[in-house]
Amino acid sequence: MRLSRYFLPVMKESPADAQIVSHKLMLRAGLVRQTAAGIYAWLPLGLRVLQKIGQIVREEQDRSGAVELLMPTLQSADLWRQSGRYDAYGPEMLRITDRHEREMLYGPTNEEMVTAIFRDAARSYRDLPRTLYHIQWKFRDEVRPRFGVMRGREFLMKDAYSFDMDEAGARHSYNRMLVAYLNTFARMGLRAIPMQADTGPIGGDLSHEFIVLAPTGESDVFYHANWERPAELSAVDFENVAGLQAIVDGYTADYAATDEKRDEAREAEAGDALRQSRGVEVGHIFYFGTKYSDPMGLRVQGADGSEVMPHMGSYGIGVSRLMGAIIEASHDDKGIVWPEAVAPYKVGLINMRADDAACATAADDLYAKLQAAGVEVLYDDRDERGGAKFATMDLIGLPWQIVVGPKGLANGVVELKRRADGERIELSAADAVAKVAG
Ligand code: ATP
Ligand code: MG
Repeated sequence: MRLSRYFLPVMKESPADAQIVSHKLMLRAGLVRQTAAGIYAWLPLGLRVLQKIGQIVREEQDRSGAVELLMPTLQSADLWRQSGRYDAYGPEMLRITDRHEREMLYGPTNEEMVTAIFRDAARSYRDLPRTLYHIQWKFRDEVRPRFGVMRGREFLMKDAYSFDMDEAGARHSYNRMLVAYLNTFARMGLRAIPMQADTGPIGGDLSHEFIVLAPTGESDVFYHANWERPAELSAVDFENVAGLQAIVDGYTADYAATDEKRDEAREAEAGDALRQSRGVEVGHIFYFGTKYSDPMGLRVQGADGSEVMPHMGSYGIGVSRLMGAIIEASHDDKGIVWPEAVAPYKVGLINMRADDAACATAADDLYAKLQAAGVEVLYDDRDERGGAKFATMDLIGLPWQIVVGPKGLANGVVELKRRADGERIELSAADAVAKVAG
């Protein structure tokens, strides 16, 4: 993409209304714009990141055995009356009336809808277990929307729902998600700690929140220092029930709990290794048994012919919130430092002298070669000062920068800079392409 034709409204100054660094940087780097309290437009660069985060979430859901569908944002109030949550949900729910005076709502979550869809299709034990998920916008009329996309009113969530014949099956589904979540966050360069959590209004008795440590986070958290090791991916056989349970037990052996679930005995056991911090909740998983299948009439025939009420769980990831969390974890005083897996482009190509014909020809040529090699590249071909171009590239945080200037060209080299540590090397244009394409 040529910057001269792109839409990238960057801001030099920090916006006064933004309190935390990720919110400031998202506005300054032209990723989002607020259009109403807690509601954001995703500008082209921000949309690319949102799609990359969503795609990683999707791949790991698929790998764990979950199946994607897409449910609507608007739901009927009657559906929520079946579970009894329509009145219970309170003012966070945005209620809408259509032209026929039918009561509707903008979905804050989808337990009711997915239970109804599954109920109308599932007949017997052969239709289970299943885990269904979608990535869809949600609306919650938060009392205090703040910190940009971290606590918005409209936000993008991945929500998955599992259906099993019994509690043991549901625990296996829960374990699949727990491990899938750790892999998902690790691929984004994040250490997210699964912490014992309250089940809240969704109900149930088994729940973990996935917390990314950040001083600006909204949750108070307590954990064993062992969690400070970097996240790694685990290659897992999701079908191996005992194997998966052992992996989950391994992960959750080290103490980690939110404020509401502190355990004095386990904290004493951790001793000097106990840590206290603040964190951002990027995911939340629940097992809640028959809480929805019971009132909503979901029944299937068991292998012995008896009628069975399936056990369910639900599993959310804050896809749009993750963008803020990743920036909180990965930035410096110049701007964002995107982990490669979610970067909007891999390379920023800078022509230092757009008014110099030799530089323009060399930069155009490099741009074509990078594209031919399949490298996602944002090409700053604008007629601007070099300093302003460097500042913009540092701000938007692409992993690599390639700089074409008159001095280097005279020596047959370009400069390659790695954003994360600022390391620069000079090399031929062909070597630069080979390096970033690898
Ligand atoms: P919180 O405790 O932060 O209000 P929640 O417990 O209400 O979140 P869940 O119902 O578990 O959230 O939703 C699943 C995920 O959706 C959360 O883990 C979080 O990452 C994300 N999320 C929830 N509310 C918001 C919001 N207002 N803005 C952005 N993301 C959100
Ligand atoms: Mg929660």
